[in-house]
Order: sequence, then C-alpha cells, then structure tokens
Amino acid sequence: MKYDAVVMGGGLAGLMCGIRLTQSGLSCAIVSAGQNALHFSSGSLDLLTHLPDGQVVEKPLDALDKLSEQSPEHPYSRLGKLSVIKLTHLAEALLQQSGMKLRGSSDENHYRITPLGHKRLTWLSPESVPTAALHSKMNMGNIAVVGIEGFLDFQPQMVSDELQREGFNASPYYVHLPLLDRLRENPSEFRAINVARWLDRPENMAEIVAEIKPLITDAETIFMPACIGLDTEQPLLELQKQLGKPIYLLPTLPPSLLGIRLHETLLRQFRRQGGIVMPGDKVTSVNCIGSRIESVTTRNHGDISLKASQFVLATGSFFNNGLVAEFDRVYEPLMHLDLCHIPERAQWTNKAFFASQPYMTFGVQTDEQLRAKKDGQTIENLYVAGAVLGGFDPLTEGCGAGVSLISGLHAAGEIMRYFERQRAMQAEVAQ
Ligand SMILES: Cc1cc2nc3c(=O)[nH]c(=O)nc-3n(C[C@H](O)[C@H](O)[C@H](O)COP(=O)(O)OP(=O)(O)OC[C@H]3O[C@@H](n4cnc5c(N)ncnc54)[C@H](O)[C@@H]3O)c2cc1C
Repeated sequence: MKYDAVVMGGGLAGLMCGIRLTQSGLSCAIVSAGQNALHFSSGSLDLLTHLPDGQVVEKPLDALDKLSEQSPEHPYSRLGKLSVIKLTHLAEALLQQSGMKLRGSSDENHYRITPLGHKRLTWLSPESVPTAALHSKMNMGNIAVVGIEGFLDFQPQMVSDELQREGFNASPYYVHLPLLDRLRENPSEFRAINVARWLDRPENMAEIVAEIKPLITDAETIFMPACIGLDTEQPLLELQKQLGKPIYLLPTLPPSLLGIRLHETLLRQFRRQGGIVMPGDKVTSVNCIGSRIESVTTRNHGDISLKASQFVLATGSFFNNGLVAEFDRVYEPLMHLDLCHIPERAQWTNKAFFASQPYMTFGVQTDEQLRAKKDGQTIENLYVAGAVLGGFDPLTEGCGAGVSLISGLHAAGEIMRYFERQRAMQAEVAQ
C-alpha cells in the first residue's frame, strides 16, 4: 500500500496533520493504535496560558517572545513567532471548517468553568461550555446546577459551592431519571458516554423535561454534566428549547463527551476529504534505508507494509505509549529516537505536587524543522508532532492542544512543500 504520507497516531496532532494534507489533495493514511488524549480531555483547547516562570498569559500570541527567552526548546520557540501565528490562525480556520462550534480566539484567552466549578484559562471552548471573557463579569443570573442521581462523576453541591465562592448565584439539584435505572445497577457503567446514549434518544426527551422542569423554576441558566449530545448537539438544543432556558455543559471525569465529539468531528472531516484511517492498528516497526524511512509495518497488516514518501510521528506522550518510562530510562519505543536532555532519575519529579514536573517536558528531539533525529542524524522524511515532542510542559504552561495542532500543521506544510518541489522538478525535466 502506497500513500503520499503515513501518519503514526490519530490524536489531535495526527488528525489535524491529515486534514491539512488531504485538503491539499495528497493521499494520507493514519494508523492509530487506540484511544487518544482527547477522549480524556476537557474538550477545550489550550494555546498558552502560563509562561514557564508562572506568569499568567492573557494574550498568547503576544507572549511568544517571552516564551522564547524562557524556553528556547519549546516547539513554539523552535518554529518561530511568525510561523506559530500563521499556523494558529490556520488551526482556528480548519477547526471551524471541520464543523466544530468553538468559542474564543488566539487574540485573548478566556475562562472556562471546570468540573469543580473553578475558572480556568483556555483558548477555544465548545459553545456549550460556560465561558467568561477575561475582564468582564459573567452574568448568568440564578444558576441551577443539575446533577443526576447515582452519577458520581459530577457533584452539583461541590460545583455550586465553588461557583458561589466565585461570586455566582448557584444552587445544586439532583434529577432521578428512572430511564437510567438500568445503568444504576452497575455503577462502573454509569459513565458520561453511557448516560448520553440514553439521554440522546428522542423517545426519552419528554421524561427528561418532566424531571428537570419543576427544579428550575427560579433559575435563569442551567449547568449540567456533559452527558447529552454525543454524536450531535441536537439533543441538547432540543432540551434547551423545551426547558426554555440556556443550558451549559461542564466536562465530567473521563471518558469525556466533549473531547470525544471533537475527535469524531475531526475524524469525519479527514475521511470526507478521502483520508484513510486504520483504527486499532499499531505501527510495529519502521523500515529505514540510510536516513530515510521507506515503509512501516503494522500489527494488522502483517507482511503488507505501508509505503510513503513522508511520515509523521504523532504517537503521543507517556499516556499513550508514544514514550515509555522504566525505572531509570525513558525511550521512544518505535525507533529509539533521540530525546531531549533527560536528567538523572532523582530529578525527574518535583516533590511539590502542584509544581511543574520535569518529566512532563521529556520527548523526542528534533531539528529546526521538527524532523526526528536518531544517533544525532536527522531522519529526512520523519516529522514529529504533538505530545511526543519534547521541550514543553502541557499542564503548567497550558499549551497541550496548541502544540499538537501547530506542530501537526507544520508537518503538513513541510510535506506539502516537499511535493510542490517534486512536481516542479518533474515539470522541469519534462520540458
Ligand atoms: C488525560 C489528558 C487530558 C488532557 N486534557 C487537555 C485539555 O483539556 N486541553 C488541552 O489543551 N490539552 C489537554 N491535554 C494535552 C494533550 O496532550 C493534547 O491536547 C493533545 O490532545 C495530544 O494529542 P496528540 O495527538 O499529540 O497525542 P495523543 O492524543 O496521545 O494521541 C496519540 C495517538 O497515537 C496512538 N499511538 C501510539 N503509539 C502508536 C503506534 N505505535 N502506532 C499507531 N498509533 C500509536 C495512540 O494510541 C493515540 O491514539 C491532555 C492530556 C492528557 C494526557
């Protein structure tokens, strides 16, 4: 099987790269072993919320110069300010074209409300998530925080207490919803996605409305756990219409409906543009000749290798086995690529639990174009994208999704330029 490009890993980085490549007419296959970080995420996308020294970032693109001074190895610093700005705007446009309804802009971060009722800075949030601009007060009137009896991943009392501390007028409520009794029999099944499968059925809408309506007579706004609208927003819009009040969704513990919806939307866009996805398959070996990759072998395709001119490594970090940590060593398992500097074992972690943890910055080392290196030598046709990259801390710097989107788009841009050069050379030879 031969493609223009093969992407290893179908998380945010791999998918965004694939969407850009197929949009430009190139053939692309994505091999993806399993779930990705989006399935566990809030559904909001962070670009840059804090500098490494802890300074809060209000305007992410204006903070890139300071980031370069403090963290020259950060993928944004390596790509350079102009490139990051261009790719950020491209990411915003492609997310919108894919059908994502997101609020926010790279001009200024905004606050989203977390499952604990706190305010947290971010770049883009699903429209159904409650958000507030940085310096204006969020005015939602009386908020009814409606939980579901037996659903332990969302505690309305805790959310409402925290909202009150933040200055909101909020009250907690529980609905019983007998239609979920079947899930209650097995608490491990009582998860956001399974709840959504029941709440999303049109025949259940009347019962949901009848249960919630009496609780919310004094409320102007309703906050609910993100347990409705798995495939489309339609069930949420219908519930909102029937209750006659705006409903906002708060992310729950994983699996995250908001993150899964983002993943499914991007997957659909990639497939619509002709992209090939090999879900549940895993790249098991990479076949190189000199400093170039010729093909990769996967678990499901056995002897039939996937050939391409260009490859992208987007296999994620420790969370998805894109990196592996043993007691005293860290490595990239597919090719044993060069990693950024890894300090002695004792310095991998910081004893202060909430401080930046050094191991979060571990990852693959690249050249200036974000191509992988092995034994100091650049692999000419292997770009690295997303969480497998080293040099940044997605958690304390609040830049996880941004790095994935921007490095994925950077890889796609370099690959597109490669094929443009090839075409120009062929045209010259033909003349
Ligand atoms: C639990 C969690 C929650 C997060 N929440 C947020 C959030 O709310 N907002 C935010 O901005 N950032 C968040 N992040 C940061 C996150 O790192 C990025 O947002 C981004 O989603 C990472 O995408 P990725 O494509 O680089 O990697 P991943 O999403 O990890 O995807 C990598 C994919 O590669 C596959 N893979 C691995 N090895 C192979 C192989 N050999 N062959 C084929 N496939 C392979 C994996 O199965 C996986 O599907 C979160 C991170 C984690 C871990």
